[in-house]
Amino acid sequence: MKVVMLGAPGAGKGTQAKMIAEKYGLPHISTGDIFRANIKGGTALGVEAKKYIDAGQLVPDELTVKILLDRVSQPDCEKGYVLDGYPRTIPQAEVLEKALQERNEQVDFAIDVNVADENIVNRMSGRRACLKCGGTYHLVHIPPKVEGICDACGSELILRDDDKPETVLKRLNVYHEQTQPLIDFYQARGVLRTVDGAKDKNEVFADIVAILG
Ligand code: ADP
Ligand code: AMP
Repeated sequence: MKVVMLGAPGAGKGTQAKMIAEKYGLPHISTGDIFRANIKGGTALGVEAKKYIDAGQLVPDELTVKILLDRVSQPDCEKGYVLDGYPRTIPQAEVLEKALQERNEQVDFAIDVNVADENIVNRMSGRRACLKCGGTYHLVHIPPKVEGICDACGSELILRDDDKPETVLKRLNVYHEQTQPLIDFYQARGVLRTVDGAKDKNEVFADIVAILG
């Protein structure tokens, strides 16, 4: 099963993608996590990506597409995967579609996690992230058991530079301009499903499980 998570930055894509991945035994692939690991490791890709990420812009398609295609060609992706944060542009979706068509495959579900813009800034300023395992928490809504420490791996949690309010507003604009058109793209292919991302995370997950079966 191949699942694409759609939604604004901070809608809860990563939170739900992790839960889906665990329940259905699929790899969770976050292009944002891959970029952050490269930034942390000081790779050439990380240095390049950081310029865009810190500015609230998208990393150029040429770079992003290559990373994604490399990742989904790994053996653990044979039975499917959950994509979180990819595609973010129509050209990215077209590249994925073409790669899948060559194997007679397709995206099975594109889940749009729908959250109003007014709620996004609050979600992002309260987000605390684990750079080691990709765990995501919220100071108020989804706090870790021990303040500042990741439940899953014990590492320190951080406020991402790109989650500061001024950058969040830029990212929201970029989302509306470049990523939201993917809703129509997947609707036209008959695989779009929408869930109300303003609900509690377990309720959102129950709605997703009802869709995925
Ligand atoms: P995305 O991957 O779409 O950018 P995240 O999954 O990282 O979003 O979630 C953004 C923030 O909102 C995080 O702090 C997360 O803990 C919190 N969050 C996620 N889902 C919910 C929810 N249903 N209700 C309240 N807060 C949530
Ligand atoms: P995320 O962790 O999904 O919130 O992504 C963090 C940042 O990484 C985004 O704001 C972009 O700058 C960059 N990024 C992640 N995925 C993509 C993508 N598919 N295309 C372009 N940029 C991306």
